[in-house]
Amino acid sequence: MPGRVALVAARIIEFPTCTNCIAMQTAVAPPDVEVALSEIQRIIVVYQEGSGQCHSCGIVGPVTSLTPEEPQPDVAGRRGRRRFHRTR
Ligand SMILES: [Zn+2]
Repeated sequence: MPGRVALVAARIIEFPTCTNCIAMQTAVAPPDVEVALSEIQRIIVVYQEGSGQCHSCGIVGPVTSLTPEEPQPDVAGRRGRRRFHRTR
């Protein structure tokens, strides 16, 4: 089992991925993927999103990753251009 845990962890370390893709890419059966995820959760934080986008197959649904989604850049605080005074 430790080998499977490492395989599953390596698959979700960078991008949110759905359980089907984790299973296909690691050749670990989906129920064993769930077991591996609960093992990983005992050691580090696992982010599970109910409606995220899988970076592998692109479907929107439950996805898992070890990295939280990046917050959207905040542009609300930006000020307008500085005015230039021209002298004639
Ligand atoms: Zn997927």
